[in-house]
Amino acid sequence: MTASAPVTQDVMTIPRKLPEGGKINIVGLTRDKLRAVLIENGTPEKQSKMRVNQIWQWVYQWGVRDFHAMTNLSKAYRGQLDETFSIEIPEVVSRQISSDGTRKYLVKIAGGHEVEVVYIPETDRGTLCVSSQVGCTLTCSFCHTGTQKLVRNLTAGEIVGQVMVARDDLDEWPQPGVSTGDSGPRLVSNIVLMGMGEPLYNFENVRDAMKIAMDGEGISLSRRRITLSTSGVVPEIAKTAEEIGCMLAVSFHATTDEVRDKLVPINKRWNIEELLNTLREYPKVSNSERITFEYVMLKGVNDSDEDAHRLVKLISGIPAKINLIPFNEWPGSPYQRSDWDRIEAFSEIVYRAGYASPIRKPRGEDIMAACGQLKSATERARKSRKQIEAEAGMGGA
Ligand code: SF4
Repeated sequence: MTASAPVTQDVMTIPRKLPEGGKINIVGLTRDKLRAVLIENGTPEKQSKMRVNQIWQWVYQWGVRDFHAMTNLSKAYRGQLDETFSIEIPEVVSRQISSDGTRKYLVKIAGGHEVEVVYIPETDRGTLCVSSQVGCTLTCSFCHTGTQKLVRNLTAGEIVGQVMVARDDLDEWPQPGVSTGDSGPRLVSNIVLMGMGEPLYNFENVRDAMKIAMDGEGISLSRRRITLSTSGVVPEIAKTAEEIGCMLAVSFHATTDEVRDKLVPINKRWNIEELLNTLREYPKVSNSERITFEYVMLKGVNDSDEDAHRLVKLISGIPAKINLIPFNEWPGSPYQRSDWDRIEAFSEIVYRAGYASPIRKPRGEDIMAACGQLKSATERARKSRKQIEAEAGMGGA
């Protein structure tokens, strides 16, 4: 637990250019879209595939942002590209480093909006938690982001750009000419779409961004190292299996519709039964081994032995892992974290039923980077505790 760990924060400002007006930013364009804009802007069709391959490798394999540095293109062509296109990623406004090594970046995107990105280093992996929306339309009552209204969806470039921001900061790009696999262990080895927003309400952009991250001639992360977390947007789940094929996590958090309606209000639209029916199909279609069920442990709300028994009964037949998340408090949050003994007892019941049930170690709490704590620092219009409780139907408890 890091709650009482000493806080050592490193706040730094990294100035970087904002997107330039008039030029087409190529970050976030799929190979097909990139090819189309190149042709539209004068690249002969016959050469276009080769040009896409070359530019792609510079941008996504070696992290180059200057067309003039792309030395396998003719000088004239580099100049032509530079006149029409830009290679822009979100601007880092601040970086905080937690006492446990977790890094939280506040990045600015077009329109001056801000989102948070979190890098969590572990002994065997480095996970980047990426945001897909500014704010969120959903209002999960345990989630800090849910208190911030949806401002807009992120573009594919702004989503994959978060991965590029982290690779810049960690100095992870291989030298030009060196392939990704030859430049030592990966620092950003996993992506989780668990930051701000509901990724399945921004499906196309999330899909395009993840296709770019998975592309073998660029960032080259296996689809098994990418996990998309949804609150349960049932109609989009099958599409995720077919069009992205990544791992899936579900914000489950409750074992009865009555409680889930309050914690994850989208449950009123697609209830537990409908969600589980859809989830049963996911591993077959996406060829992934199992689904992760996220379960936030809230004192006296969803953490009883009965809940644990009900949970294993509900998910029976679904290859699954249950991630138990000790609740991370935020200013005004209407819940408390379950006691540690309770979390362990719950985990034991799930484990005995044959499911992995790790208790997630809170990371980056001292910099408000832990799960469910993200929110734009500039967002001041916080709802009061009373408002949140009212909306969660807690009857002013
Ligand atoms: S848990 Fe996810 S879907 Fe729910 S409010 Fe928070 S960001 Fe939105």
